[in-house]
Amino acid sequence: MKRLSSLAVSVALCFAMPAVAAPADSVSRIVASQSYKTAAAALDSGHDQWVKDIIAITQIPAPPFKESVRAKAFAEMLRERGLDPSIDEAGNVLALRKGTQPGPVVVVSAHLDTVFPEGTDVTVKREGTKLMAPGVGDDSAGLATLLALVDSMNAGKVQTKSGILFVGTVGEEGRGDLRGVRQLFTKGEYKGKIGAFFSLDGGGLDGMTSGATGSKRYRVTFKGPGGHSYGAFGIVNPMVALGHTVTDLYKIRVPADPKTTYSASVVGGGTSVNAIPAEVWLDVDMRSASADELAKLEKQFLAIVPNAVAAENAARSTTAGKISAGLEPIGDRPAGHTDPNADIIRFAEAAYRSEGLTVKQGTSSTDSNIPMSLGIPAITMSRIADGDRAHAPDEWIDVSKTPNVKLQRILLTTILATAGVR
Ligand SMILES: [Zn+2]
Repeated sequence: MKRLSSLAVSVALCFAMPAVAAPADSVSRIVASQSYKTAAAALDSGHDQWVKDIIAITQIPAPPFKESVRAKAFAEMLRERGLDPSIDEAGNVLALRKGTQPGPVVVVSAHLDTVFPEGTDVTVKREGTKLMAPGVGDDSAGLATLLALVDSMNAGKVQTKSGILFVGTVGEEGRGDLRGVRQLFTKGEYKGKIGAFFSLDGGGLDGMTSGATGSKRYRVTFKGPGGHSYGAFGIVNPMVALGHTVTDLYKIRVPADPKTTYSASVVGGGTSVNAIPAEVWLDVDMRSASADELAKLEKQFLAIVPNAVAAENAARSTTAGKISAGLEPIGDRPAGHTDPNADIIRFAEAAYRSEGLTVKQGTSSTDSNIPMSLGIPAITMSRIADGDRAHAPDEWIDVSKTPNVKLQRILLTTILATAGVR
C-alpha cells in the first residue's frame, strides 16, 4: 500500500467531511430532534422484524468464497427498504442512501461470509430470547442490525448531509483476507470517496474496535524425496523440518504490549504410516497491533524455515534428494488505528454516554483494518448486546429487546453524528 498517497487522500477527505460542532453537542442535538425520536421508536417497534431478519439471514449458508446466495437475498432486503442495491466485482452488496450534500460517503457495513463450510446445519434454534446456530451472531446479527438502521432512518425521514453507503462485505473471515473491503477502498467506484467507515461486528455494550490487529499468514510446504519407512530409513524427512520450524517459532519472544502473537495452526501431508512423506505442510498465523512488531516477527519466522531445512539436510542422507520449503502467503491484513481524537470515536463515546454507558476502545481484526491502514476514520461497533461462541458450532446470541434496542440507538446516533444531519 502506498502510505503517503493514501494519507494525502484521507487528509483531503477529512476536510471534505461536514464541519461539526463539539461531539457531545452534536449528539445531544441529534438525540433531541423529532426525526431521531421517530427513528428510535422504529427500532423499538421493529424489534420482531430484526429477530426475523437475523433468522432468515443465518439460514442462508454463506461459506467462505460462496457468499453469493446470501448476497442476493441481502440485496433484496435492501431493495424492499427503498434502496437501489448493486453487487460489485468482489461480490459486495452496495446500497447508497443519498445525502443532501455532495462529497464523501459514510459506509455502514456488516460482513456476509461465515467461517462455516458448505453442508453445515445453519437451522436456528430458539430458547426464550436465545438464538443458536453457526453464524447467528457473526455476522448475521450485524447484517440484520444494518437493515434495522435503514428502517429507522426511513421511518424518521432522516436526511443526512453525507450519503450513507450500506455495504454487505464478502471475505471478512479467514482466507477471505478482507477482499471485499479491500475492493471497496482500493478498486471500486467508491475508491477515494469514503470519508468514514463503520463495521457492525462483535458484541457487547461496552466496547468498540478502534485499532486494527495486523496479521501475516503463510502456508509452508516442505518437500523431500520420500521413501519406505523401513527400507529407506536414514534419508531426510520433511516432517522433521516442519517440526523444527514449529519448535523454533515457539522460541520467539514477542511483546505483550503491543500484543503480538503467533500460532502454528493447521498441518497436513504424508500418505501412509509406513512411508517417509514426500510432502507435508503447515499454516502459520502471526498477528500484532503494531505494524513494526508484526514485520519483526515475520522476518524472524522467514529465517527459521530455511534454517530448519538446512538442519534436516545436514542431519540425514540426501542421496535420494534434499528437503526444500516453499512459502505461500495466505493472509495479509494491515495493522493500523483510528486517531483517539477522531470525530468518529468522540461521537461513539458521546452516543454511549447519552444512553448512560461508557465504552472502552480495543484492538481487533475486522473489516476496519483496511480503512484504518489507509488513515480513514473507522471503527467497528457491536452488532449485538450479548452473545458468545462465534466461529463455533454452538454460537449463540441473546435477542432481548431492551439492551439490543439500546445498542441500536447508540449505533444510529453515532452514524448520524458522523454523517451530519440537517
Ligand atoms: Zn465477524
